[in-house]
Order: sequence, then C-alpha cells, then structure tokens
Amino acid sequence: MDLVITGGEVVTAGSRGIADIGVSGGKIVQIGGEVPIDASTRVLDAAGRFVIPGGVDMHVHLSPAYIPAGVGPGGVTPTGDQALVDDVLAWADDFVSGSHAAAAGGITTIGNMTFSQTGEQPVEAVARTAKDAARDSIVDFVLHPVLLTAQGMAEQVEELAAAGCASVKFFMMFDSFDAESADYVKVLARAGEQGLVTMIHCEDACVVGHVTGELVHAGHTHPRNYGRSRPAYAEAVAVARAVAYAEATGSPIYIVHLSSREALDIATRARARGVPVFVETRPIYLLFDESYLDREDGGLYVGNPPLRTTDDVSALWGGLASGAIDTVCTDHAPALKADKIGPDVNITTVAPGMADLETMLPLVYTEGVRKGRLTMEQFVEVTSTNAARIFGIYPQKGTIAVGSDADLVIWDPATQSSFDGASTHTRTDFSLYDGWQVEGGPVTTISRGVVVYDDRAIVAGDSRGQLVRKAPGTQTTHSGGVSHEQ
Ligand SMILES: [Zn+2]
Repeated sequence: MDLVITGGEVVTAGSRGIADIGVSGGKIVQIGGEVPIDASTRVLDAAGRFVIPGGVDMHVHLSPAYIPAGVGPGGVTPTGDQALVDDVLAWADDFVSGSHAAAAGGITTIGNMTFSQTGEQPVEAVARTAKDAARDSIVDFVLHPVLLTAQGMAEQVEELAAAGCASVKFFMMFDSFDAESADYVKVLARAGEQGLVTMIHCEDACVVGHVTGELVHAGHTHPRNYGRSRPAYAEAVAVARAVAYAEATGSPIYIVHLSSREALDIATRARARGVPVFVETRPIYLLFDESYLDREDGGLYVGNPPLRTTDDVSALWGGLASGAIDTVCTDHAPALKADKIGPDVNITTVAPGMADLETMLPLVYTEGVRKGRLTMEQFVEVTSTNAARIFGIYPQKGTIAVGSDADLVIWDPATQSSFDGASTHTRTDFSLYDGWQVEGGPVTTISRGVVVYDDRAIVAGDSRGQLVRKAPGTQTTHSGGVSHEQ
C-alpha cells in the first residue's frame, strides 16, 4: 500500500463513517477493515478530521488564453467574464499559481475555460492548452472549449467529443449572440447528440446593452451602478431562453454562475417538468449582497452577473440545500486591483472577476456547514460529486470509492483563522475576504495518491496534472436534479 489514511470520518455525498483508506497506484483500493501497512507505506493520521473527495471546480479561468480581436460587444472588449488586455485575455493566474491555489483550497480537479486563438479550431485550442496545463498544473484538469462564434461550430462538436471533451461553452451576454442564436441552438442540439453538456452564460446582451447605455447617458458610470447595469431580469430572460433551447433540443444545459432567485425559479420549474437543466452558483453570490458594490472599493466585488439582494442570497443557499442548484464552482477569474477600482474605472471598463480557488471550500464550509445551511454530505455533493457526474468523470472523480482516483482532502473541522489574502497562492493583488473568520479547512490535499499540499505548503512539483477525459460513450442524463452516468 502506498498511502493509508487512518481514523478519519469519511464523507461522501451519500454516506459518512469512520474508516481507514488504502491507496495504491494512485487509486483508492480499500475503504474500511484492516488496511495492510508495510515499511514503504506512508501513513496519515486523520483522527478527529473529515476525509472528503477533493473539490471538483468546473469553472476556472487560467491564462494563458487568447481572444481574437474584434470579438465582443462593439467589436472590442467583451463586457463579460474576462479582462481583455491588448487582445490577450490575461487573468492573474496561470496553471502554476492557479493549480497551487486549488490544491491549497482542497480542489483536485479544475475545469478551465479554453479559448481559441485566431484561426484556431476549438479542438486545437484544447490540445494546445492541454500541453500547457500538463506542464504546469499540480492537479488534474478538464478543458471546456469556449465558442465565441457559432458559425461552423456544430460540425466541430463530434471532434470535441472524440477528443474527450465533456462540454462546450457559449455566452448569451455578447452582442454577437442574437445574430447567431440559431447556429448556437444547432451547436446545442449536436452537443446533446454527442453526450456533451453545453455551459451557458445567461445574461441578455440586448437588455444589458440598453440599460448600460442609459446609465452612461445619465452619467451614472461609477462601479456602484454596476448592479443596475445588469439587472436580475436580464439574467432571468436569458435563463428562460436557454431553458427553451434545452427543451427544444432535448440537450442538457449547464447554467454557469446563476445569481438570482428569479432565474433559479425558472430553472427549477423547467427541471420539474424534466428539462435537462443543471445549475451552478458561485461563492460571491452566497457570501455578499449588492450593498458591497456601494462601498468605496465596490469595483473589487464586480463579477458577471453582479451581486444581488439579500433575498437572492438566501434563495441560493436554499437551492443548494434543496438540490435545485447542483454545484458551487469558483468562476476563478482573478483580475488585478487597478483594473477594478480607480479614477478611470467605470461600469463599462471595470474588469469582472476575482480569485476564489483557495477560498471557496473553506468559506462555503464556514458559512454553509458551520451555520447549519448545508450538511457535510451536501457540502461534498455540491463542491465535488455533482460536478463530476454532470461532466462525465464520475466515479473516477468526485467520490471516495474503491477504484476511484485517490483525490482526497483531510479536512480539519476545528481550525479557526482570520483570513489573510497575502498568504495565498493566487497572483492577484487583493482578496475580498481579508479578516474574515474562517472555521475549518484542508490540512492535506492528495491528488491521485500524491500529497500535493500539506500543513500550509505546496509539496508537489509541477508537471503532474493530467487531462481528465470524459469516458467515451457516457451520456450525461438528467433525473430529478442529479445526473447519472450510464
Ligand atoms: Zn467564467
């Protein structure tokens, strides 16, 4: 046995109990009973701690990535998920710093939004990024091809499926969306036929464009107006359209970073009548309300969609507990402070996005499990298991079972700390959580049997992360809010 974890309370989405875990060749080979230990076995004592499956965060943005010039509203800067700097999408983290932050935050699989360079087909972008990530990442990764145009893309879907992709992603928030919506629906139809999930950023470009224009005209351009520039009804109408596309095609959709009660209600009603809709939310919508945008440094809190009301915040916690929301993923898209606040920054130029890979699990645990909003099993389900199921990598990832990859986190439920962003691994230069009281967190993170983070330090070298491919022939299906692999 290579590694044995003794005495921990093993928690999965459906069970918990004290058991020893044996790991050999990167896989879990035994749970419970007497696990054989020899002279070469590494033994980790987890008494008094939880052992949980490593987090599966299917929504991160790590550079390098590149966006062709002229894509996005007005042919220039996308107002959305990414900062466009000299036509190059530059987030503060690459696969080195991003994967270190993931490991330190208890996340062992990351799903990266993968953009094509000019003239490059999505399947080529995936191959190129897979090389970068395999060189740099210390945790395993999934690559989501991002389609910035739909033209000719339906024909690409089969190739992406053959390459092991589990998904495609597109944005309804770009001005170009409406002109190409019929093509996007064809992509969605083809993706469903090929067993892929289509990830959709649901904000209506027309509504956001109009309302933003009115605010600019009236001179209300300070970032404190950001929420008004992207109202909840702009999200709700986009979710309703996306749901209709799923209904029309029968293809599963995955709504990224849902932020409002109104949008959640639409998705929930669709699920109740059997439409294949999966829902993701994101830490900032659970941890902050719109009042943060009013602060002097409110630009730091800007993401797309924007922060919402306290009623929306409680609807999202309720959705996680009820199963109406499947996953909480970071949308780790770390922008720099200077691009978010300052005299020249306004609602049309503020860079959306922030770091959350290292903070998501500890903060969702603190605010969710410790405050009684989520059980420990639900915490595992929404931060790991459901994402692995939806993206076709379960039970290799997302659970603790014999035969699964040994992606494990030893979680101390009792640590108390005051969060200090300066001590984290992300290369961004601010944290939204400085001074927050955090209860509980990862002590040791194990990726395919290798300890990658231990006692507050990264202890693995780069070049060990692997591309996780969706198993060929697996079909993501939808049943009562939980998908099942067949
Ligand atoms: Zn994103």
